[in-house]
Amino acid sequence: MKKIRVKNTYDLRLTGVPSRTIRESSLGKTLSVLPTSISLIKPKLSVKEGASVKTGTPLFYDKRDENIKFLSPGTGTVKEIVYGPRRCVDEVIIELSGKESFEPFKKISTAGLKKLKQEDVASAIQEGGLWGVFTEHPFRSIPRSTTVAPAIYVTVDNDEPFLPQSAVYLKDREEDFKFGLAILEALSDKVYVGVSSQNENIKTALGASVTHELEGHYPANNASVFLYYNKESESENKSWSIKGQDVLRLAELFKEGKYPVQRLIVVAGDHAKKPSHVLAREGMSVADLAGKAPNEPTRYIAGGVLTGRQITEKGILGFNDYAIHLIREGKETDMLTFFKPGFDKPTFGRTYMSSLFNSSLFKMNTSLNGGYRACVSCGECPKACPTELLPQLLMKELKANDTEEALDQGFLDCAGCGLCTYVCPSKIDLDTVFDDAREKLYWEVEK
Ligand code: SF4
Repeated sequence: MKKIRVKNTYDLRLTGVPSRTIRESSLGKTLSVLPTSISLIKPKLSVKEGASVKTGTPLFYDKRDENIKFLSPGTGTVKEIVYGPRRCVDEVIIELSGKESFEPFKKISTAGLKKLKQEDVASAIQEGGLWGVFTEHPFRSIPRSTTVAPAIYVTVDNDEPFLPQSAVYLKDREEDFKFGLAILEALSDKVYVGVSSQNENIKTALGASVTHELEGHYPANNASVFLYYNKESESENKSWSIKGQDVLRLAELFKEGKYPVQRLIVVAGDHAKKPSHVLAREGMSVADLAGKAPNEPTRYIAGGVLTGRQITEKGILGFNDYAIHLIREGKETDMLTFFKPGFDKPTFGRTYMSSLFNSSLFKMNTSLNGGYRACVSCGECPKACPTELLPQLLMKELKANDTEEALDQGFLDCAGCGLCTYVCPSKIDLDTVFDDAREKLYWEVEK
């Protein structure tokens, strides 16, 4: 087993930690699928309003590649299709019939898998609606259906606050996980499995399947970071990655012959009533998952606190969402904040006394502690960057449209972890600048 020591990681100690208890959730009357929550695709509908759908019926696909399909997470009728600007499909709402019926897919056993060619395995995953669980680097898009991965990186642990813990989602499912890895091995010659170096129990449970130990705090277990430290050639820049829980979903699809709709998510954050793991399915509403909205102003985030997307209390769990966070919306300004000792404030640059005297968890809120401030070249962001970039320099190059220089500086190695934004004393949204530039570049390359 190879050990990777990730530089510049950070221990984000936040309140609202989800317990390991698994809470069941109940389905409402509808499920909504959000094509716009899936980045870098051009959705085209396969259904019309009023159509009857089973669980696993295709709802839409990527216009550029019909094999990249997205399936219905429930059985019922397409109640409404909501269009956004330029008639892009924002939402497909399914009214549930109350009686679940699944589209059948071919069951594939371990013995059957060995007889299949790479393209047959890829086609079974595409038919089963799970091709979208793969991420192709460096753009973090869904790979085209005919491409072959130079390598597949599996990340078992999640160190961003907060995402499902491997000890919970893998409990008693080690054999399914190994079958999922066998499916990945049928797709690529190189499959790397990374586990946090602190997670002794999972390393023991998965045994020889684990190829790498990832040492460090957040984001040591991020797939882009894993790839950055492990790649040996330029061709590996286009490797794919997949989350540990999605490996289980692949195994379920092949074993059961059904679209695997259930997943374990966390509902977490300081404003969550009972932060815990929740058994959920795509398309459920925040109200179904997190209960009644808190009385205080609350920011809702689908995904991890630094990498998730902002939603509202009426938000929906998207195809790639594994968490719902509720944190305090801090609009107030703290007068003369820099002149206070700050025993209760998190600090990266040791500005506050909490760095010396407080090892407890901090309450996160969304306050920027003031209005827009320019970059003062303080040099804090490179100290936080796990892929050894100079974020402030990259931002200036990208804002000046000097993309070539940014590429020379390794811009595409950015893992999108959000740490540079988090530690920036001017609270410049650096990772959004990088995400927008990466997306723009992707469409230029792909057009
Ligand atoms: S540039 Fe920022 S978002 Fe990108 S990897 Fe470095 S710290 Fe993370």
